[in-house]
Amino acid sequence: MSKADSVTLAFIGAGNMAGSIIGGLVQTGWPAEQIIAAEPSNTKLDVLAETLGIRTTNNNEDAVAAADIVVLAVKPQIMKSVVEPLAASFQEHKPLIVSVAAGIPENSLNQWAGGNMAIVRCMPNTPSLVQLGASGLYANALVSDEQKSVTEQIMDAVGISKWVESEAGIDDVIALAGSAPAYFFLMMEAMIEAGEKMGVSKEAASELVIQTALGAATMAKESDVDVAELKRRVMSPGGTTEQAIFSFEDSGIRTMVDKAMNACRNRAEEMA
Ligand code: NAD
Repeated sequence: MSKADSVTLAFIGAGNMAGSIIGGLVQTGWPAEQIIAAEPSNTKLDVLAETLGIRTTNNNEDAVAAADIVVLAVKPQIMKSVVEPLAASFQEHKPLIVSVAAGIPENSLNQWAGGNMAIVRCMPNTPSLVQLGASGLYANALVSDEQKSVTEQIMDAVGISKWVESEAGIDDVIALAGSAPAYFFLMMEAMIEAGEKMGVSKEAASELVIQTALGAATMAKESDVDVAELKRRVMSPGGTTEQAIFSFEDSGIRTMVDKAMNACRNRAEEMA
């Protein structure tokens, strides 16, 4: 199962997250005829079939029967009612199950699927929708190295992915990446508001701030040096940037970030 072109992939649920992963897979060369999506909505299926050329069905069981890997991409609230009726098919075909649902533990999925299943829990984030996602992956003991490698190929089609050693590590990923787009949106929101107070129009302030965030993230990704050094290089002694950074540090930005991320992680742990 190490070669993507020999693997058939079924998506149960073809909404936003599944649609973006399927789009990324087809764009990165995964054969469309080896992808099948199962969904009650024909409107969503028709769009995927027409734009990406994948196979579609309204019957979840047919999709599972055809697949080496089944990606569960329905809302967490209905996961149990979707997986339980598929248990006989899971037990017969024993595909790898990859769940992208937030907050559903591996042992619940395994129980609903009839037990003894190879399961990967994946925590993607919303930038996956623009193929710039950052996902955490956790595999139970039944997942083979080959299955891990194919799972990585799937998630890397919409960004990057990192394995965590224990299921609790998924909660760390929620704090570091899953919820984190909102932290950056908050920072941008605050900067745009400050710009407006200085008298800059909202439109101009938004464009300047968003482009700067994109530029800073791109530099951080492409640079050989770490983010602390990149920050230092913008801070000329006695200059303007230094004043802003000193002000952030005086206001306790590191404590604020640490506290916020721990609050996020603790909530993820409570919800699991
Ligand atoms: P969505 O509502 O866009 O997609 C869910 C799809 O499931 C819908 O198209 C719906 O028609 C379909 N569906 C409903 N009942 C079904 C059934 N019985 N069988 C098959 N399909 C059925 O939701 P989404 O945002 O794509 O989220 C899907 C999963 O991804 C969730 O579990 C969510 O926790 C997880 N997730 C999403 C994001 C994100 O950024 N959107 C991030 C992290 C995790």
